[in-house]
Amino acid sequence: MVRVRIAPSPTGLAHVGTAYMALFNWAFAKKNQGVFILRLEDTDQKRHVLEAEEAIYSALKWLNITPDESPVKGGSFGPYRQSERLLRYQEAADKLVKSGTAYSKDGAIWLKMLPNIVFKWEDAVRGKISFDSNQLKDWVILKSDSNPTYNFANVIDDLDMKISHVIRGEEHISNTPLQLSAYQALGQKPPVFAHLPVLRAADHKKLSKRRDPVSLQWFREEGYLPEALLNFLALQGWSHPEEKDIFLADEFAKLISLERIKTSAPVFDFKKLDWLNGQYIKNKDNQELTDIISQEFAPEIPKELVGKFIPLVKERLRKLSEFKGSVDFFLKTPEIKLSLLTNQTKYSPSEIKQALIQTIKAYENSSTWAVAELEATGHYLLEITGWTPRELFMTIRVALSGKTATPPLFEMMAVLGKDETIERLKLAAGTVK
Ligand code: GLU
Repeated sequence: MVRVRIAPSPTGLAHVGTAYMALFNWAFAKKNQGVFILRLEDTDQKRHVLEAEEAIYSALKWLNITPDESPVKGGSFGPYRQSERLLRYQEAADKLVKSGTAYSKDGAIWLKMLPNIVFKWEDAVRGKISFDSNQLKDWVILKSDSNPTYNFANVIDDLDMKISHVIRGEEHISNTPLQLSAYQALGQKPPVFAHLPVLRAADHKKLSKRRDPVSLQWFREEGYLPEALLNFLALQGWSHPEEKDIFLADEFAKLISLERIKTSAPVFDFKKLDWLNGQYIKNKDNQELTDIISQEFAPEIPKELVGKFIPLVKERLRKLSEFKGSVDFFLKTPEIKLSLLTNQTKYSPSEIKQALIQTIKAYENSSTWAVAELEATGHYLLEITGWTPRELFMTIRVALSGKTATPPLFEMMAVLGKDETIERLKLAAGTVK
């Protein structure tokens, strides 16, 4: 039976590295009809930080990779908070003292490191790894305050929770020989280890919370879709057998194998993440996008309007946080810079004014204000002005929005409505002297 876990320490924000480990463990459990567990390694803390725990739950829920067993959703191998298992670690340490593999000194309990042993394991990602015990020293398993050390609690938990595979970051490779010495002292067989490459910033240093945006809350507020973030994280540690760039977590969970996990991660490339996110936004259902944006990114804009804007702007969004900026001109009459209007064509201000007046006249006669009619009128205007489509439509676009990059012109006009469109065209014509 495959049983895997993530074991984050709840210290403040929910970290993108936790999502990365969660994704790989969740996918591996799913692939093997196993169980995915969330355990909280909270013994090193002065006090239990409840908000930090909440942040982990809500991040996993947002990502839709929820554990089968966790402190809130119990299982027969719980409790899943280390702070609730202190007696268990003390009992295990006492047993080792009785068997002679550990001893007390200065109020702490130490595990003896036997000389001339090679601690070796077949890492499912990296192959054979070994450490010579002569390089290692006796180590504390229970501190003088009776709290276990990380390496000891981690081993006891993995045994009690019947963890079959420990899938975690490569920064824990150096802990593994100490943990193996604990398995040996306890007379137990260790799980399979698989060490994933850590997430690295552009300078190849490990992502750091002091330097890089790592909080999952930040990713959410920035407007990354969970599907895009998961896809990106999967690519950090794994490559698709068909070299696909875009795939959902469910597909990853069908295809994952530990052998395909990379030994080094590409750097955390925000340009790539933005691109990927843009693809997911483009392909996402309009109604779902409307719901998310209304709730989280533009609660002050009436939802009905959000729903109208989305099909017009979704192609261009890379992050949902860009939504408001991309529709602001719909809601507020833009200020038109005269130079922006006159720089779009070779024509003189009076010729531009003339074209705008012809445009106003033609559109004043529009009866249905449907996209097809607006477009037909646009083509009629090309004929009577003799301007190229680029010249005329860019001039109208700037007149209506104050920008050169907007949604498709006629769809934009349809959403603006007749009165507003005519009024803006008149205002723009009035500014040209
Ligand atoms: N608390 C450790 C961490 O957050 C867990 C390491 C492990 O998975 O064994 O990195």
